[in-house]
Amino acid sequence: MIPVEKDPVVRGWFEGRHVLVLGLGKSGVAAARLLAGLGARVAVTEKRSKDETRGWVRELPAGIPIENGTHKFLALSWDLLIVSPGVPTSLWAPVRARGVPVWGELELGYRILSLAGRWPAWSAAITGTNGKTTTTALLGAIFKASGRPTVIAGNIGVPLCAVVNTVTRNTALALEVSSYQLETAEAFRPAVGAVLNVTPDHLARHGTMDAYAKAKFRLFQSQGINDVAVLNAEDPWCRRLAPFVPGKIHWFGDRIPGPGLVWEGERIRGKTFSGQWRPPAHLPGRHNIDNALAAVASARALGVSAAAIARGLADFHGVEHRLERVRTWRGVRYINDSKATNVDSTRVALEAFSGPLTIILGGQDKGAPYTPLIPLLRKKAREILLIGEAADKIEKDVQGRVPLVRCETLARAVDRAAQTSRPGDVVLLSPACASFDQFENFEHRGRCFKELVGAL
Ligand code: ADP
Repeated sequence: MIPVEKDPVVRGWFEGRHVLVLGLGKSGVAAARLLAGLGARVAVTEKRSKDETRGWVRELPAGIPIENGTHKFLALSWDLLIVSPGVPTSLWAPVRARGVPVWGELELGYRILSLAGRWPAWSAAITGTNGKTTTTALLGAIFKASGRPTVIAGNIGVPLCAVVNTVTRNTALALEVSSYQLETAEAFRPAVGAVLNVTPDHLARHGTMDAYAKAKFRLFQSQGINDVAVLNAEDPWCRRLAPFVPGKIHWFGDRIPGPGLVWEGERIRGKTFSGQWRPPAHLPGRHNIDNALAAVASARALGVSAAAIARGLADFHGVEHRLERVRTWRGVRYINDSKATNVDSTRVALEAFSGPLTIILGGQDKGAPYTPLIPLLRKKAREILLIGEAADKIEKDVQGRVPLVRCETLARAVDRAAQTSRPGDVVLLSPACASFDQFENFEHRGRCFKELVGAL
């Protein structure tokens, strides 16, 4: 297979075109590199300073004009604008109003693969407020179990533009897609699109729940009547927006209003299509049943065999930092859920264990109250260990309900947990907060936790 950069049809589209890339991060770099390889005349504009983006600049081909600190380039004349997912709409909307096509990196990858005749027959895109990464990784595991060459990409950390040359018509493609990426999608057409759930998040950017939900449903805007939408029957927004989906709907949930998959308390069963499966043994929590239902429904819709689905489910061990089992030490299980950066994901984590447990909470506060955690904490927590900046606020919110110890650092919290837990307990890092007060990011926080636990 020739690289897409050499494909005459794709080159015909991009060679010599003036393309501006707005925002220099992982996806901006991937887009700029691919476009430069196709012979486009690429420039980049980026809000941050030269110093802050040095690492990214090093990955760009030489000779690309880069503007730092302002966006005067936006006023020049362009054939195409590629925007990064983090960039506010207000910045690029005026360019679109001038008639310049504005695409995200996902849309660009899709267009290039389509032009090259390589957009896969097995393409599934997963979106939702929570569970995207887990579901996409699980679907990828199911694809692999089917024996097809598999590519897992998108918001999961691998831009589609960075892997276009590993994708062919016969690839099974599992894509994680965020609502930001969908804002700048147009022709993007996955054979299967899944919406896991729509709960309040990112409202600062999208304005209202209505706008946020509609951004998610742009996933289906270019689908045809034979494409498939996988929708959560328990989610009010999925129910409300289902009539606007052009393709076939496969529902999932406890009770479903049409064809799809149901959860029967022990197994996943196809209603109107055959098959029944056990959920992945290593994924705790009801929320992970939903993720498994969505992955199975997506795989089934593409025609993956029931046996391959069963193998994929059995082999899947979860994703790092999401209710990840670290170690059992002196009869106590240590769980790393560092990705729980908001109250709702800590709530589902608490629901996943019967207790008694010691929970490590805190970090950088995100503004939401911690009070929704009180009933679960009272029922299950032996002790709360507080770390980071949010300690005061958490203490104020849950005071008097559960024993609480200020530990300041993760190291002290792990020490204390090791001293006070008893065999059969769970020690859970599920902080309900961002990590940036003490760590580089949630991955760094999770790795530190695992090192500390490993050293006990
Ligand atoms: P995303 O990629 O959408 O952020 P992840 O799979 O990384 O989702 O999970 C993020 C957090 O959300 C995890 O800590 C997990 O506990 C929680 N979570 C995962 N799946 C769901 C779900 N279906 N519903 C609610 N919360 C979930």
